[in-house]
Amino acid sequence: MHRLLDDPLIARFEPELGRTRVKHLIGEELARYRSGGAEPAPEYPAILRAAVSVLEAARFEGLVRAVNGTGILLHTNLGRAPIGETAFEAMRDAAGGYSNLEYDLVSGRRGSRYARASALLCDLTGAQDALVVNNCAAAVLLVLDTFARAGREVVVSRGELIEIGGGFRIPDVLERSGATLVEVGATNKTYLADYERALTPKTALLLRTHPSNYRITGFTHAVGGDELVGLGRRAGIAVVEDLGSGALVDLRAYGLPRERTVQEAVADGIDLVCFSGDKLLGGPQAGVVVGASAYIARLRANPLLRALRVDKLTIAALARTLRSYASGALSEIPLYAMLGATLEVLRARAGRYAREAGTSTVETAAYLGGGSLPEDALPSIGVRLPHANASAVAARMRRSNPPIVGRIDEGRYILDLRTIAADDDDAVIRVLNGLRD
Ligand SMILES: *Cc1c(COP(=O)(O)O)cnc(C)c1O
Repeated sequence: MHRLLDDPLIARFEPELGRTRVKHLIGEELARYRSGGAEPAPEYPAILRAAVSVLEAARFEGLVRAVNGTGILLHTNLGRAPIGETAFEAMRDAAGGYSNLEYDLVSGRRGSRYARASALLCDLTGAQDALVVNNCAAAVLLVLDTFARAGREVVVSRGELIEIGGGFRIPDVLERSGATLVEVGATNKTYLADYERALTPKTALLLRTHPSNYRITGFTHAVGGDELVGLGRRAGIAVVEDLGSGALVDLRAYGLPRERTVQEAVADGIDLVCFSGDKLLGGPQAGVVVGASAYIARLRANPLLRALRVDKLTIAALARTLRSYASGALSEIPLYAMLGATLEVLRARAGRYAREAGTSTVETAAYLGGGSLPEDALPSIGVRLPHANASAVAARMRRSNPPIVGRIDEGRYILDLRTIAADDDDAVIRVLNGLRD
């Protein structure tokens, strides 16, 4: 134990982890060897290597900045959308001092945190009012809890009874609200008449969900948002849409297929539209509901809102991200900077990797991820490492400084340049060079 603690390879972890924690982790590691039984006792270098690896893992227990070389832009496991420099500055300002979070600076009276990003959201989407909560799942929960009480019914197409991930399923959330789910149509085809037949005096909502992470193709039919709104208006029933990704721009400008935008849902007359802040919006984790004032007012009056309340740093980053949309400065949003990077630029960066780190460039396919457009690839450029043991390379890259996550394709380790910030190029090349020894 003492020999290990005095070893410079171990001692360098002390400033970060603290001596007590280092001692504890090494003690556990040594205990594993002692209980190893009949096997010959390992040599000191082997024990040292194992101890270093345990301490390295301990360094990653909190959040650690990592390089995303997977080519998946909205990688949920890697934190979805990175936020831009400008949004980050807004967050830092809000975090480091006081702010007008719940204070109206014009009147000098109490204000509402929920009003902070509302005007921007209304301007950008065309909605009458807006409300921001913790994430889109919370937004859907709040809507259902407010309108779909016990004894009421919510009508959903069978093609849209989705699981979003992390066990969040529309039918299960609905069940918690006490309302009854009324499924209509078939998995592949639902018509307006199906919804119409399902209406009863107990119907509370017509719910439309965006099947963002899967796709039904072939012999299909879905009811348009405007048609459903028509039915809702005739019957006096609110129409809600869980849009998920929440695109505010037409993705065709980036060579991707058309994705329904928030503005389109609002223009269709959908009464409440829910979407995420950290998917196609490219901002912080948040859930947004935009829609008709009377309905948003009812959401604001729900006591559950307090538990789903959005944090001030999120409001700061979200409002600043929305301002980038308002001023047309989309390149301030990392997601759109990455989507807009030309193949020439990516090829030039990959060429530098290839020259300096002894790798070769390769054409790759990047994906949006985050449950958006799961089938649509975006042409990209990467570097491919020559090593035959790709999973051993992947393990080393994950433990490097900075940790780098790539992908393995046809038995070779690949880093996709589209999701690697150009600012990280030097650091990644340094790590790649280290692999050559
Ligand atoms: C991603 C998604 C959600 C959940 O969004 P979070 O912000 O992660 O809570 C809800 N609905 C749909 C359709 C989604 O795609």
